[in-house]
Amino acid sequence: MDIVLLGPPGSGKGTQGSLLAGQLGAKHLSTGDLFREILSNKSHPLYSKVQIIKEGKLVSDEVVNLVVQDGIKKPEYQNGIIFDGYPRTICQAKALDQMLSDMGRKIDLVIDLNVSQDVILFRILGRLVCPKCKQVFHKKQGLSNCPNCGEGLVSRTDDTEEVIVKRMQEYEANTAPLHDYYNNSQTIHITLSVDDTSLSVKGVNDQIMAKLKEKGIIQ
Ligand code: AMP
Repeated sequence: MDIVLLGPPGSGKGTQGSLLAGQLGAKHLSTGDLFREILSNKSHPLYSKVQIIKEGKLVSDEVVNLVVQDGIKKPEYQNGIIFDGYPRTICQAKALDQMLSDMGRKIDLVIDLNVSQDVILFRILGRLVCPKCKQVFHKKQGLSNCPNCGEGLVSRTDDTEEVIVKRMQEYEANTAPLHDYYNNSQTIHITLSVDDTSLSVKGVNDQIMAKLKEKGIIQ
């Protein structure tokens, strides 16, 4: 099954994406994670092209589409993909439709994480990530090392208040129009509203799974 996760920065796409991948037997693909890997490797041919991330702006459609097109040909993506952070523009959505169609596939489902601004700021300003296994934590948990692999937890360099404002603006200008793009398509679209900081990761995941059952997508 091929699924697009839509939602503003900090809406939980990464966390829910990796959970859903395990539950649905698909592979999680985060373009943000791919770009952060490139950013940590000065000799990567795309190193200079992804510096723009530090300003909270979008990497060019041309570069993103190439990276995704290259990535999804790998065997591990053949059983379905949970797209997290891609597409982010109408141009990318059209490119993705074409890439999947060339592989005899299509987007089966769009999951829209509609999260309030208060919840987003709380999550982003407290977010800690494991650079090795990519798990996401919150400062309120009081952890300094990843409980799964032991690596030291870090804050993302683009999780500052200044950069967050830019990323929100980018989302409204470029990514919000994708709601209409997918609403006007034949794709099944489910929306989940989160406006409470106390709603747990499991709570959100349970709601997604309940909606998938309701729609007859899973048993
Ligand atoms: P994320 O981890 O999804 O929040 O992405 C972090 C940053 O990577 C974004 O703020 C963008 O600068 C860049 N990025 C990730 N995915 C895309 C995309 N599909 N198009 C353009 N830029 C992207």
